[in-house]
Amino acid sequence: MRIYAVKICFRPVTVFIIFFLLPMHPCFCFSASALKGDFAGKTRFMMHTVVEIKVQGINADKAVEDCFYEMDRVNNLLNNYNPESDISRINRNAGFASVKVQKDTIKALELALKYADITGGAFDLTIGPLLKLWGFASEKAGTGVGIIDPDRINAAMKLVNYKALYLTNDGCEAGLEKKGMYIDAGAFSKGFVADCAMKVIKKYGIKNGLIAAGGTVLAIGKNPGGGAWRVGVRHPEKADKFLTVVSLENQAISTSGDYERFYEKNGKKYTHIIDPRTGTPVATVRCVSVIADSAAVSDILSTALFVLGPDRALQVVNSIEFVEAMIVTTSGRIFTSGGWPAKKIFY
Ligand code: AMP
Ligand code: MG
Repeated sequence: MRIYAVKICFRPVTVFIIFFLLPMHPCFCFSASALKGDFAGKTRFMMHTVVEIKVQGINADKAVEDCFYEMDRVNNLLNNYNPESDISRINRNAGFASVKVQKDTIKALELALKYADITGGAFDLTIGPLLKLWGFASEKAGTGVGIIDPDRINAAMKLVNYKALYLTNDGCEAGLEKKGMYIDAGAFSKGFVADCAMKVIKKYGIKNGLIAAGGTVLAIGKNPGGGAWRVGVRHPEKADKFLTVVSLENQAISTSGDYERFYEKNGKKYTHIIDPRTGTPVATVRCVSVIADSAAVSDILSTALFVLGPDRALQVVNSIEFVEAMIVTTSGRIFTSGGWPAKKIFY
């Protein structure tokens, strides 16, 4: 992926603006005026996206390094494109046996299963067979398969069922009941990895910092200007414009968009988020942003609410504490939950 711009502008005195993500990406962050104390920041390409970490503290440089190390470690457990990952080992043994996995893998799976239940299966981490069918099962964008025979969709749907993922042996092992089942961690791994990295930052006693991984941004404390971290959400159609800007207070925001991975066939857009209940790519939602107190939860829910559509999505959001959401439909309607913080939305 090409990096269009990293750090467009840096004025250290009173106006301190940092744009650190690709214009292609769903979130941008910036801060204003200067806070005393050094911020260390680094950007790396990992998890198929640009990851930026910024922290303030005595050991800020070391913390950032350890943070990236932790992100690599946890991502290597969850990445289903890495044949050595725990998830890949579970997938290879589907229908055959459970496999021993790391504690962090179990934690991620437990969280994903919890929200699969909460969202009535709209979020289903075993979505892999449907992603493969629709041409979204490689690290590249979709391959443009277009219309698919309903029998093939039904056959793939029979292999998508989070309830057939089991944890066993005192929560040390995980397995899939049927051969052909496949866990895809794309909807939650970045968020989970960001939460793990934030724990590392906190171990350093750091109070102010930010981790941004593609469409997920997790912030603690204040920005370099001493104010709340402010994150701009990308406009779904105009990559260089903001849809809105939100302030984060020890929170995370994740955005899922139909512009991230998609292809067009005969004038129809096919996006990478699949409704497990119909077996087809969601065609009615343009983007969803979710604010939550953990990056994993905001990441999971942004994908889940994308599938649910605005009405059901808002019901689900209202049933969960500390979660807010904004949903934009393909017809251009904007829905926000009661506590959504940004009043100005420029669609
Ligand atoms: P995100 O950008 O966080 O919304 O994640 C999108 C990714 O989630 C897709 O590229 C797939 O890997 C995966 N995915 C697609 N549909 C679903 C679904 N219904 N439940 C869980 N994961 C999904
Ligand atoms: Mg997600």
